[in-house]
Amino acid sequence: MTTAVPTSSAPPGRSTGRPPGAAGGHLAHNYHPLPVTVTDGQGSWLHDADGRRYLDLLAGYSALNFGHRHPDLVAAAHAQLDRLTLTSRAFEHDLLHPFADRLAALTRTETVLPMNTGAEAVETAIKAARKWGYETRGVAPGRATIVVADGNFHGRTTTIVSFSTDDDARRGFGPYTPGFRVVPFGDAAALAAAIDHDTVAVLLEPIQGESGVIVPPDDYLPAVRAACDDAGVLLIADEIQSGLGRTGTTLACDLWGVVPDLVLLGKALGGGIVPVSAVVGSADVLGVLTPGTHGSTFGGNPLACAVGLAVVGLLETGEHQARARTLGAHLQSRLAALVADGLLAGHRGVGLWAGIDVDPAWGTGRDLCERLLARRVLAKDTHGATIRLAPPLTIAENDLDWGLDQLTAVLRTP
Ligand SMILES: *Cc1c(COP(=O)(O)O)cnc(C)c1O
Repeated sequence: MTTAVPTSSAPPGRSTGRPPGAAGGHLAHNYHPLPVTVTDGQGSWLHDADGRRYLDLLAGYSALNFGHRHPDLVAAAHAQLDRLTLTSRAFEHDLLHPFADRLAALTRTETVLPMNTGAEAVETAIKAARKWGYETRGVAPGRATIVVADGNFHGRTTTIVSFSTDDDARRGFGPYTPGFRVVPFGDAAALAAAIDHDTVAVLLEPIQGESGVIVPPDDYLPAVRAACDDAGVLLIADEIQSGLGRTGTTLACDLWGVVPDLVLLGKALGGGIVPVSAVVGSADVLGVLTPGTHGSTFGGNPLACAVGLAVVGLLETGEHQARARTLGAHLQSRLAALVADGLLAGHRGVGLWAGIDVDPAWGTGRDLCERLLARRVLAKDTHGATIRLAPPLTIAENDLDWGLDQLTAVLRTP
């Protein structure tokens, strides 16, 4: 009897036997990771195979708002693994309605449509908005448009990259899905002017994460809401990165008291354990998706609902939102001091979420991340000179200060 022997040069186990981050081998090269290979994590800290300890200031692009292996989330997942993991939506399971009800209550919305990844939530909202537009606004068949902002990041599907303004994300992937109109982010007048009788929705990140934590002027989202109301079109807020506590509020839109028609959630909703996303919002709008028109094999599965319910449980107390506010104020003031000292070219942010701009005279964003890595701090550059800081909301204040001390030390030594 023969056993198939894997031809991979990488043996299973703790080490890949290859320089971390190196190209080659069997893995597709669609990422350029920092040269570190992580083997385990707890809270805000990670270890590599050699036992070195790193502070995580990226937190899975905010998928890890509660840190690595939060005990409540791990316990919920373990318990569910021992009961039931998948039914498909052909049958009901006992956590589906509790998950929908508690997520709706947390976000003060009527209806929850569960999916898996963020991009699927975006696609779901696009489909719902178009069908709603045809059925209730009388838009001529095939003519619906959705207004979006430049600098957006909504995911990686062919339709979503069709309205990306990032050349790397878009180029080479056509033919592009029509029906999107791009306007400058932060300019409510330009947005209002782009809405016409074929427009069904405006789709925006209230704060643009991937673009470098771009916070719009305070009057922007209220003006966008008013423009949508005037024209009778939907406001869809992509809160996949900004939502679930990051900004010090449950949703970023809460900062301005704006209530969208649909809110897209993902990332932290899965507690860093499983992919869980959802479209939450108006029953009238989501009601256009009737049986057979939309779905997902894994959407709303029991394991996802168990973890999602535990995430909702963490946010129901308001404690993590409050931490994001107080620690966030501390983070923003320390970053402002680095800008005042001339060590950073700029910074912006809200809550425990910041974009910092590296002075090109100092180096690139990638240089800074590599120098931080050498001091055992993990962060990731986005778009050249900008680095996004998004520590777990559970980070201890002295750990955050230690991380910022490392950042300061690195910036002081060009
Ligand atoms: C990450 C992200 C997405 C896409 O989520 P995936 O789970 O990677 O598909 C969409 N919108 C925003 C704002 C995001 O940050």
